[in-house]
Amino acid sequence: MNEQKFLKCKRCGRRLSSPDSQVVGYGPICFRKVQEEESVQCDLFDFEVTE
Ligand SMILES: [Zn+2]
Repeated sequence: MNEQKFLKCKRCGRRLSSPDSQVVGYGPICFRKVQEEESVQCDLFDFEVTE
């Protein structure tokens, strides 16, 4: 099994200390923000499609 781990946050570049963060590649706060940004992009996309 190939388990890739990230030592730095892919969003802000800060060091990731928790193993969970190293797996996802984001700190807890950045991970939430990335998810929010993705959902916003999806909403915008759906909005454009329905127009
Ligand atoms: Zn971060």
